Amino acid sequence: MSRCQIVYYSLLSTRYSLLMSDQTSRRIVVIGGGPAGVFAALEAKRTDPAAHVIILTEEGCEPYEKPPLSKAVLTGKALPEDALIAGPGGVIAHKVVLERHACCTAIDRAARQVRTASGQRYRYDALVLATGSLMRELPQFPIAMPHVHYLRTAADARALKASLQSAKHLVLIGGGLIGLEVAASARTVGVKTTVLEIAPRILARVCDENTAACIAQAHSKHGVEIHTGVTIKHVEPTAAGIDITTKDGHALSADIVGIGCGVKPNVALAAAAELAVDDGIVVDEHCSTSDPNILAAGDATRFPGPHGLLRLENWRHAQDHGVIAGRNAAGAHEAYRAVPSFWSEQYDLYIQGVGWPSPQPDTHIHRQATGGGPLIFGISKGAMICAMGINRQRDIATARRLIERQIPVDSAALADPNRPLAGMLKATA
Ligand SMILES: Cc1cc2nc3c(=O)[nH]c(=O)nc-3n(C[C@H](O)[C@H](O)[C@H](O)COP(=O)(O)OP(=O)(O)OC[C@H]3O[C@@H](n4cnc5c(N)ncnc54)[C@H](O)[C@@H]3O)c2cc1C
Repeated sequence: MSRCQIVYYSLLSTRYSLLMSDQTSRRIVVIGGGPAGVFAALEAKRTDPAAHVIILTEEGCEPYEKPPLSKAVLTGKALPEDALIAGPGGVIAHKVVLERHACCTAIDRAARQVRTASGQRYRYDALVLATGSLMRELPQFPIAMPHVHYLRTAADARALKASLQSAKHLVLIGGGLIGLEVAASARTVGVKTTVLEIAPRILARVCDENTAACIAQAHSKHGVEIHTGVTIKHVEPTAAGIDITTKDGHALSADIVGIGCGVKPNVALAAAAELAVDDGIVVDEHCSTSDPNILAAGDATRFPGPHGLLRLENWRHAQDHGVIAGRNAAGAHEAYRAVPSFWSEQYDLYIQGVGWPSPQPDTHIHRQATGGGPLIFGISKGAMICAMGINRQRDIATARRLIERQIPVDSAALADPNRPLAGMLKATA
């Protein structure tokens, strides 16, 4: 028997024994193969090793990371399967069962069962919903329209990458993080790229004007044309692509159009099960939904932050939230308290934000640059509440600790690059 066959049969036998596990052990079912779902499942198994934990994912593959899809996958430096969420051995290496092509269509709360499109039923003691987000579809550019690309899955990334290989002109609708990452990747592989943004500036929902201006400058240096304050007037499919006319008179011929206009929470399953849903599956600080046997985590949820319910769409939140949901599904009672953060990579820019997105800080402090890019802090009531930086990883890590510990900060010292940020950690809250 070859080594591959031995590994294959041992994985099969692990899966069989997991499926046949003791009827008295806790059954934890997780819907969704994104970071929230995978981390929930892994953490549930770690918390209760006797539990039978299963992930149901509608996709046909081992769960993979989404962040590389708009970056290394498009530029050909990596394949989606290079970055598996559960590590190279997949989820089975953590003694968690993965059911692929398992599109969940209904939750029977009374019977505590999940049904899939193929008619399978999965009984649960605790259920974790981690159904993520869906692309916001623009009526002028339906998802199935030829030459139009939305980007959410590995299949989307493969299709866009293939189109970029022969494209001459990519027009991106939306100057948010994903749109700009795709723009940077397209330029890296030599495709002419134009970004159309409806707001007066790019990244209006994400960062301050100064940081956004630095990012716009990098795109301009690499030859991306960015038009802001633009509304699309007319869209005309052609044999070779799509002609776009804007209200202010721009006429563009694209062979491919990329749409990066945000996402919406994927709540259909939760809503049909009559769980509380309000722009996301509503959960409490323990990731519990309105049904005590059902938890939820990640992009799909609206959860309590320090200033009320909010929804986040970033990787670290999905991971950290999933961890708490998984522990609690396995019997713990932990509250989610992580300070959220995100990152983006465009060309040689490593863009990071940390802290709670609202309310507006009382003061913004720009720290003078001593190498690296801009660094800005938001201060409220004498403490840091958020920070944003480009190529300032070490400073952002320190800012995260200042925010987590609510340490009082001195505005003049924060602005002065000669006063080490790390020294401020020694002050007490
Ligand atoms: C291209 C791209 C690049 C990104 N880059 C970054 C980045 O650089 N930095 C950052 O912080 N964030 C980034 N993000 C955001 C980050 O990846 C998401 O916030 C994160 O994936 C959300 O995790 P999640 O588990 O909540 O949901 P998702 O990752 O969306 O996973 C949800 C899963 O549920 C499955 N599912 C849904 N409904 C059902 C059903 N009924 N039955 C079975 N399965 C179902 C879906 O198929 C999917 O696998 C990026 C996202 C994308 C799309």
